[in-house]
Amino acid sequence: MANKIKIHHDQDVMVITVDNPPINAGSVEVRQGLLDAINILRGDDQLKSAVIIGAGNTFIAGSDIKEFSLPLAEPQLPAVITAIENCGKPIVCALHGAALGGGFELALGCDARIAIEGAVVGLPEVTLGIIPGAGGTQRLPRLIGIEKSIELICAGTRIRADEALRLGIVSEVVQENLLGHAITFARKMSGGKQRIREIASPRSNADGVLLASQKALKAGKNRPQVQKAIEMICNSSSLPIDEALAIERATFQDLRVSTEAKALRHQFFSERKLYKALSANAVQAQPVNQVAVIGAGTMGSGIAIACLSAGYAVVLLDQNEVALANGVKKVKEFYNSRIRTGKISEGKAEILLSRFSESSEWAFIADADLIIEAVFEDINVKHEVFKKIEAHARADALLASNTSYLDIDAIAAKTSNPSRVFGLHFFSPAQVMKLIEIVRCKTTSAVAIATALSFAKRIGKTPVISANAFGFIGNRIYSAYRRQCEFMLEEGAYPKQIDNALEEYGFTMGPFAVADMSGLDIAWAMRKSYAATRNPQDRYVTIPDTLCSLGRFGQKVGAGYYQYPDGSKAGVDDPFVHQIIDEASAASGISRGAFASDEIVNRVLLAMINEVAHLVNEKITSEATDCDIALVNGYGFPRWRGGPVFIAGEMGQEKLNNELRILADASGHGFVIADTDALFHSL
Ligand code: NAD
Repeated sequence: MANKIKIHHDQDVMVITVDNPPINAGSVEVRQGLLDAINILRGDDQLKSAVIIGAGNTFIAGSDIKEFSLPLAEPQLPAVITAIENCGKPIVCALHGAALGGGFELALGCDARIAIEGAVVGLPEVTLGIIPGAGGTQRLPRLIGIEKSIELICAGTRIRADEALRLGIVSEVVQENLLGHAITFARKMSGGKQRIREIASPRSNADGVLLASQKALKAGKNRPQVQKAIEMICNSSSLPIDEALAIERATFQDLRVSTEAKALRHQFFSERKLYKALSANAVQAQPVNQVAVIGAGTMGSGIAIACLSAGYAVVLLDQNEVALANGVKKVKEFYNSRIRTGKISEGKAEILLSRFSESSEWAFIADADLIIEAVFEDINVKHEVFKKIEAHARADALLASNTSYLDIDAIAAKTSNPSRVFGLHFFSPAQVMKLIEIVRCKTTSAVAIATALSFAKRIGKTPVISANAFGFIGNRIYSAYRRQCEFMLEEGAYPKQIDNALEEYGFTMGPFAVADMSGLDIAWAMRKSYAATRNPQDRYVTIPDTLCSLGRFGQKVGAGYYQYPDGSKAGVDDPFVHQIIDEASAASGISRGAFASDEIVNRVLLAMINEVAHLVNEKITSEATDCDIALVNGYGFPRWRGGPVFIAGEMGQEKLNNELRILADASGHGFVIADTDALFHSL
């Protein structure tokens, strides 16, 4: 027997312990070991029933996802579940920690489930581009119905033990001594099997199923695994179970080898690598209890909310009383709307807000452990603000800047203790977006970085570490992307065509809709400030400048790349903008041509990959795949496409290099082809 499974006997009950640390993943050895144990159970007349439990602090918290990239080794999970069902003796699953994916399907194949309080169960397969492939879509609906199954499986929701009891998924929830209770339960069941497959097919209510399906498809962005999951769940009411199980397995196998599932596994492993690297940081973080946020504008108020929601005490400071009042209003309105929509209780909101204070007096930051500056994007204003912070903050407080583009080394250099200065680059809206870039300056101490990481974790963000460089990681890639889109405008495309092509590919929004939403004036001011240092030979598209010079700053003024009649939020094509674009093409001597959607997408992806390769070569990022994580979590890049690094890997280096040469020709002067060796070595 494989040593991932341990067995012992408690009189007439066999106890089967899955021991495959750290999460007792259902690998091939675990599956073989379970089969062997069930064979022993069948053949031993002294044994009347069995309990399956996990060693350590969890049940089987998922499958070994690495196996999904290879041909699946025998025995596969359905064979183990069939053996459990065919065994004449009852088998009870004792659930603690998490029973997820294949672990939960195994539990559904057993005769009963007992959980300890706090345990969670769920089928998160759709988040990896697949569906449950070992009966999850057939057995769960027999317990909880079609509609609820669609809701839970299509969102990959985790259900807590008390909810699982209410839904009838588990028979008992115990406070302690899980194994003892499970053994007693198994002993009481001796001689009686309770196979879920024998429960009558669930009835379905056509309207309810339609509604649940529509909701799930919308939330699941209509991805194929969500469509298939719904189809499979519905089969549970219309097909004999064995036929439906065979279809489920075949569908699971097809999805498992799809590029989309591979891309989602790439995201999963990239994040795992990132967290492993971050947790390897042995330096102790400094304790943070109070955060001071300087600047109560768009970002400052969002950052304050992110910190308050994580339980920090927050002081919000702005020099401008009106701006401060607006920022405070935004924070309070946020919690009021959470109360109205039932996302938070009034009592909880009150507790969080009791830790909130505001001021325009600098003395108020005296107790803060971490100070985050989010004032205007102007280096001189930042220098002034850091001077004031230093004059009022504790000597050991850590100081972060939320700047998007400015040189944080330069900001740190003007302080008396640059080792405590770093970047914390949030994304808008700061209380929503998952990404945070932690910018390590040349002088930042290891303790400051460790503290930034632990802070990011507590506020629920996904942190990537960037060296100090113009635009850090995310905005560097985004700038290259947007520049490429502007080139295409000049060469023959119009904003709507580019936005549509990229949105159809899966981006949350196209670049011109994003520009209109966030305002064209910010980038304009930045272009003006860097105009003197720009190489005059580089290709420069004047269209955004022309729009700005006409006051077309985007949605907030009703016009930008699109027009927004009567305050609408959806942009409408504007013939006048087409005229501006046509004139820009003519002025640059470019004869406009037609663009196909895939050509637009391809140029964007190549531009992104090229910029990632530059970031790797310049050591702005220490891990290429962090760029994929950044784009998905901060820039609306579709997770199921994996990210530029994944796409480069799929393309192969030779093809990529050839295509980059073609892109460089199309892009003209200023486009620098990156050496892709380091990028491919990292794959
Ligand atoms: P904003 O204009 O909305 O807010 C800035 C606030 O800072 C204003 O309320 C202003 O009164 C206050 N302020 C200015 N000078 C001050 C001083 N000396 N002392 C105290 N308060 C002062 O700007 P924002 O969009 O929130 O951007 C703030 C920072 O965050 C900038 O560095 C920006 O680049 C960065 N950022 C912005 C975004 C975004 O999408 N808006 C995203 C990421 C980062």
